[in-house]
Amino acid sequence: MQWKDYEGNGMGNRMIRENLEHVKANIKRACEGSGRKEEDVTLIAVSKTKPLPMLMDAYECGCRDFGENKVQELVDKWEQMPKDIRWHMIGHLQRNKVKYIVDKVYMIHSVDSLRLAEEISKEAVKKGVTVSVLIEINVAQEESKFGTTCEEAYRLVEEASKLPNIIIKGLMTIAPYVENAEENKQYFEKLRQIYVDINRKNIDNVYMTELSMGMTGDYETAIAEGATYIRVGTGIFGERFYAV
Ligand SMILES: *Cc1c(COP(=O)(O)O)cnc(C)c1O
Repeated sequence: MQWKDYEGNGMGNRMIRENLEHVKANIKRACEGSGRKEEDVTLIAVSKTKPLPMLMDAYECGCRDFGENKVQELVDKWEQMPKDIRWHMIGHLQRNKVKYIVDKVYMIHSVDSLRLAEEISKEAVKKGVTVSVLIEINVAQEESKFGTTCEEAYRLVEEASKLPNIIIKGLMTIAPYVENAEENKQYFEKLRQIYVDINRKNIDNVYMTELSMGMTGDYETAIAEGATYIRVGTGIFGERFYAV
């Protein structure tokens, strides 16, 4: 479906409602299969590139967690959407743009350097807010992806945890695009292992509770490996079309 074809509260609403029901049924099944509680997994509706009426339809279907990957788009949508939404910044974040979002986001999933953490801390202090963040790890070591390495993650957590007005809540990864989701099980397992190891180190101010992993193609596998946040775009809103 293209932007211009989208009718808020018409066909689109039904599409989104059905997609959400489908995703939620899969979440339920994945939780049952791995002995987890459904309420321990939060579905983030990844709404990047999608128009406001579509987001509003998802909102009316009960979505309160939305994920965006561009600062300007997040700010625009934040301004126009209801204020009880929890906005998740899931995309690569440039330091010079941090100031626009620190007081608007519920969580930043993409902290991959100490310099970025320092900037978030500095802007958070200025605005008098505390920002929850996740450390993004490029577990699969893909060239095309951002994220720190598994080895660096420990030091990054330790250093970033000393900064004011920033709380490290957990880890995030973007797994490779694969046909068979089971191929990504190894990366989700690895992320969870790092998470457990870091918690065992008893670093001051650090007790992580969140694992952000799993997208449309592999969220059930991620849930089986302990995901507490899954980030689903296509599975809720349909394919994305990028302007050329
Ligand atoms: C776009 C995006 C998603 C959602 O991808 P889908 O495959 O459409 O579910 C999840 N996480 C990140 C970081 C993204 O950029």
